[in-house]
Amino acid sequence: MKQKVEDLDWKNLGFVYRDLPYRYEAKYKDGEWQEGKLIENSTLVLSEGAEILHYGQEIFEGLKAYRREDGKINLFRPDENAHRFALSAERLAMPPFPEDRFVEAVKQVVLANKEYVPPYDSGATLYLRPFMIGTSNVLGVQAANEYTFRIFAVPVGAYIKGLNPADYIVSEYDRAAYAGTGQAKTSGNYASSLLPSVEAHKNGFADCLYLDPREHKYVDEFGGANFYGITQEGQFVTPKSKSILISITKRSLLELAKKQGLNPVERQITLEEAFIMKEAGAMGTAAVISPVGSITYEGKKHVIYSETETGPVTTKLYNELVDIQYGKQEGPEGWVQTID
Ligand SMILES: *Cc1c(COP(=O)(O)O)cnc(C)c1O
Repeated sequence: MKQKVEDLDWKNLGFVYRDLPYRYEAKYKDGEWQEGKLIENSTLVLSEGAEILHYGQEIFEGLKAYRREDGKINLFRPDENAHRFALSAERLAMPPFPEDRFVEAVKQVVLANKEYVPPYDSGATLYLRPFMIGTSNVLGVQAANEYTFRIFAVPVGAYIKGLNPADYIVSEYDRAAYAGTGQAKTSGNYASSLLPSVEAHKNGFADCLYLDPREHKYVDEFGGANFYGITQEGQFVTPKSKSILISITKRSLLELAKKQGLNPVERQITLEEAFIMKEAGAMGTAAVISPVGSITYEGKKHVIYSETETGPVTTKLYNELVDIQYGKQEGPEGWVQTID
């Protein structure tokens, strides 16, 4: 059933799928991407032999449209999502979707579902989910030769609510192998994170913190967000690792942190070092910036800044990022694209 706009409670949207009027679809066959278009049907019809059902050729992206105070709509660095999508495609042996067409299609989906972009100041946004799957029949393990690319949109509240510190547990599982698919945004990485996150939730934690899969010594990232810490010297540090997803939020915060004099650096961070950070947080499109209240490891809880309060550095970074996204403050050149 299609979601009616009048049935939405902007302040209590949660992070759940809703069937909006329009999505974009393009298909790849005979060695090239066909022309795409907006369609109304949210259903996908697949053969039982479709590649995606057996060998997991799927990649996705996540980005948001923000309602500005003047009623117009902002996109935050959609070209970066287009580029990462092409890199993920390459790792999964899929045909890259042209980056300019990706951004154009995102805009079409936002405009077609315009009334679903939540009002300014509701704290909610329109989340866009581009994805691609292998659809042709395979039995032997091989890449598909036909693909479907889609972008759907869903109005969402904050994924992890605002600036409330959350408790994390260091996972005994790995989410991605050292030279595996950790740098690609692909469903398989999430499939392997499901059991760890179910167990974490059962024990009262918001999510898992994963260690590097080779030595289990350095901090990698959370299930769906990158890690940063503020050292005792006040430096912004975030892990450098082959098995983490390169977050666009992280790359943006590295630039903002530089402007704020936090001398940011990407380097390996041992777990012991993470325990003694002045502040720490999770960063990603869905999480925005979410402060880390504590990290539990081998039964011992390490409180970072506070379990109830958010630190000043995190608060300042959060405010600057969100102000840029909503167009309240001018960001670096090219970060925001306004549509109306
Ligand atoms: C999407 C994602 C992130 C966050 O990336 P953004 O570009 O900031 O949204 C971080 N880690 C993982 C595993 C992800 O899938």
